[in-house]
Amino acid sequence: MLRGAASFPLTERNRGDPEMPRQFPKVTLSDVDEEVRLMAEKVYASALKEEENKEAISLYTVPEDCPIGLQQAKERELLRELAEQHSEEMAKRKKSLKMIRSQSMQIPVCVDWARATPTPLVSPLFSCPSIPDSFPEYQRVTISGDYCAGITVEDYEQAAKSLLKALFIREKYSKLAYHRYPQTTARFLRSAENLKWREEDDVLPDICPCPQEGEDPYSMENIPENLGYELKMRDGIIYVYENKTALEENRPHCLPYPDLETFAIDMSHVLAMIVDGPTKTYCHRRLNFLSSKFYLHEMLNEMAELKELKGVPHRDFYNVRKVDTHIHAAACMNQKHLLNFIQSTYKTDADRVVLEKAGKKLTLKEVFDNLNMDPYDLTVDSLDVHAGRQTFHRFDKFNSKYNPVGASELREIYLKTDNYIMGEYFARLIKEVAHNLEESKYQHAEPRLSIYGRSPDEWDSLSHWFIQHKVHSPNMRWIIQVPRIYDIFMSRKLIPNFAKMLENIFLPLFEATVNPQKHKELHVFLKYMTGFDSVDDESKHSDHMFSYKSPKPEQWTSDENPPYSYYLFHMYANIMVLNNLRKERGLSTFQFRPHCGEAGSITHLVSAFLTADNISHGLNLKKSPVLQYLYYLAQVPIAMSPLSNNSLFLEYSKNPLREFLHKGLCVSLSTDDPMQFHYTKEALMEEYAIAAQLWKLSTCDLCEIARNSVLQAGLSHQEKKYFLGPNYLKDGPEGNDIRRTNVAQIRMAYRHETLCNELSFLVDAMKSEALGSQM
Ligand SMILES: [Zn+2]
Repeated sequence: MLRGAASFPLTERNRGDPEMPRQFPKVTLSDVDEEVRLMAEKVYASALKEEENKEAISLYTVPEDCPIGLQQAKERELLRELAEQHSEEMAKRKKSLKMIRSQSMQIPVCVDWARATPTPLVSPLFSCPSIPDSFPEYQRVTISGDYCAGITVEDYEQAAKSLLKALFIREKYSKLAYHRYPQTTARFLRSAENLKWREEDDVLPDICPCPQEGEDPYSMENIPENLGYELKMRDGIIYVYENKTALEENRPHCLPYPDLETFAIDMSHVLAMIVDGPTKTYCHRRLNFLSSKFYLHEMLNEMAELKELKGVPHRDFYNVRKVDTHIHAAACMNQKHLLNFIQSTYKTDADRVVLEKAGKKLTLKEVFDNLNMDPYDLTVDSLDVHAGRQTFHRFDKFNSKYNPVGASELREIYLKTDNYIMGEYFARLIKEVAHNLEESKYQHAEPRLSIYGRSPDEWDSLSHWFIQHKVHSPNMRWIIQVPRIYDIFMSRKLIPNFAKMLENIFLPLFEATVNPQKHKELHVFLKYMTGFDSVDDESKHSDHMFSYKSPKPEQWTSDENPPYSYYLFHMYANIMVLNNLRKERGLSTFQFRPHCGEAGSITHLVSAFLTADNISHGLNLKKSPVLQYLYYLAQVPIAMSPLSNNSLFLEYSKNPLREFLHKGLCVSLSTDDPMQFHYTKEALMEEYAIAAQLWKLSTCDLCEIARNSVLQAGLSHQEKKYFLGPNYLKDGPEGNDIRRTNVAQIRMAYRHETLCNELSFLVDAMKSEALGSQM
């Protein structure tokens, strides 16, 4: 279906778009506590030190393995609690808190937000007639008694305030970029502001529905007209002007252009909070609680969940939809597949010219002769693309595994889109992978293709490749990965500054949005591209400390690579403005889905918390209880690849996936690079199977992961409705269609009630403080 401005249906999902022009709310430095800024700098410095000295106890962890420190902390806490007991003021605050808690413990299960379900003071089964019929009966784990034993009221209130602030900040950045934000969390934030949440306030991405059977996915008809807008990059962000005069007078078209200062200030708030003592302790305790609560839930309800699943007709783990949410196109086939493909091309194309090297044209036979190889003798061992013991903690060695037999010529011929044969072999390989997915029907993948920012022509050549070879598959959606390799281009003098790299990446997309008639192929390709990824070795660190004083991209002319957060902000900023422009035109939007927290500084996870719709890896959340708890509260999806980690950064047995899943973080399973890590034809199934075996995951666990993967993926609203159920946007059992997802309603209710409970603690602390100050 065409999504031009005229034909774009104003569905119920668009109703909520504000009539008011969207603005980027700027924060000025004077508003900010100097202390916060200093603290943020300290965290940066400490994160750098942490990378150099792995043994150092960092500011943001809780020292569980240091019994003396823990003992001392507990004693201090006890003394403070005793002191609080004798303080009249604190007694008053405690009382108001208890009052609020007994009144307001809610689970927003139904349309009527006011109908409350009390937990955990009173068992909901006795006092809650309002649990809707859609909620199953099961054994609920509830805690009665004191609302926050073991933590002083003051600390609790401080922690709640910080956490809510962080959730507000993420909400701001998510909404501006048309990223998703969970309804439940948004409801509680509105409640903290004494506002009412409305369904129309929900902001959602717009992703093109898959072409129907019989429709031409590459159709160039009905392409929207030229808007005639002018474009110009300023401070590393593309600005849009309605005409030449507006450009000359510097009156940009009304879009929410973000700025580096505001971002740096917002980020320093979250940075300061992850090392704040009370917040750290609070989050650590809540996470431990979540883990224990799930343990009890599982013990009490495992059989009931299984019983529910056994009653579901037709659906089982094999035929629930699952998406490989993180996979690189250049490694999306397994080693055996690549080997067979190389041999089969040699059989048919030995005399075909496939490579031009130093002005000399080479046939496939000559290429192999030069390498002293006969393809018939090749084995997966000599192909040597699999990762193993030698790649652990050696990202450099891993990267060279992308070269079959260690020869960059073969990578050039088989795994590139813009080579002498116009990327034909690469397209054929990908289409074979896609064909396998289509055969198996229930599996989808989101492969990453590269745009480097070396030249502005890259987009045209990529979209030409895509259309010429007809690469589209209903089971694949495309993500563009941008490697963080400014320093390499700089050392080869390919670009004058960082702004040029950003311009090469983003300007063509703005041009294709303003005038799709002139960029037809790119316009068509963008229908199937749903997001951006930022990739490279995260453990490479930069000496530059990101702050509001960081130079603007036009001034970034040094040879040094900008730090991770600087990359992330500028990618986010351009994607966000682009999405707003595209939304205005009724075109699809893009999601920002960077690799984050695979290695390197903890600050990466802070910048992604603001800028990303969802992330890949997230291993380092293990190190910071505050961030881990925030990723839980905001339900930030995380695509995890334990097999990839096992070869590169973290042994399988130490992978936090199981722990994250149990606590209720929104995790999915993905393969990353089947060519390097997997053995079988069904790499995603291999990933699920190993996780299931090693961690003894139940069918319900696996189907929950699969459901998360569909939620996280860049699939259209229509597809998600079809795969998950018509109400999938609603949280809890109401949003789940067990006949499609095979996730037990008991599990859905447990997750939803648990999240509501955690959020209500934060909102109540705010309310009681407000009440306390009135008393
Ligand atoms: Zn990856």
